[in-house]
Amino acid sequence: MAAERQNDRMRDMDDGLQGMLRDIRWEVEVTRRDIGKDALDERVMAAMAEVPRQRFVPEALRALAFHNGPLTIGHGQTISQPYIVALMTDLLEPRPDDVILEVGTGSGYQTAILSRLVKQVYSLEIIAPLAADAQARLAELGYDNVTVRQGDGYAGLPEHAPYDGIIVTAAAPHVPPPLVDQLKPGARLVIPVGLPGWSQELRVVEKRPDGGIRERDVLGVAFVPLTGGHGHPERG
Ligand code: SAM
Repeated sequence: MAAERQNDRMRDMDDGLQGMLRDIRWEVEVTRRDIGKDALDERVMAAMAEVPRQRFVPEALRALAFHNGPLTIGHGQTISQPYIVALMTDLLEPRPDDVILEVGTGSGYQTAILSRLVKQVYSLEIIAPLAADAQARLAELGYDNVTVRQGDGYAGLPEHAPYDGIIVTAAAPHVPPPLVDQLKPGARLVIPVGLPGWSQELRVVEKRPDGGIRERDVLGVAFVPLTGGHGHPERG
């Protein structure tokens, strides 16, 4: 009986995951003019299929783990919508030898996705209990090429810079200059920019091999704000 229940749970989980992957593909189709592509990188989709999203959401919300929307993770924060996680990862164009910096660890889900695609991920989270929980969760699940630190990600993590890519998962009032400084030539920063509760754009900032900067806005998004010393002033 217990084994049957376990099998049913596994089947529900697999159906949920397949539904999530279908929703991502559907949303790519709907937004293809904005994002300029008909499909996301298959490596990214494989990572989305592999990482157990249900382990990154609060126990009480596990039934909703594969819903294509953000979910609360406590402390006023969220685990981002699966489509947006997949899109941001795709826009970063991660390669197997890359060292990536993430700002906004949250649950650690995006960190885990990145860890499947690159050599090393450094992730910064400003809320100490979230940083501690994410580090413990990632270690328990065996993601051993990630390091989570508590701190204000606006300043980046200079000791491991320069990075092959940087991803920010909270909306900044502007592109933080320290993060641009910490990009390698040829690398990219993917970041939502704008006001909380107002219009935000998902922006890709590329540092060209000659050091010049090229920026493009990809899609309107809705993220929690980047906080800390240089974040949104009204949120401190
Ligand atoms: N990537 C996360 C995931 O997969 O669960 C979702 C992140 S949530 C949308 C944004 C996170 O950014 C929150 O956990 C928030 O505490 C964090 N954050 C906000 N401002 C920050 C800052 N200045 N430095 C580091 N983390 C910050």
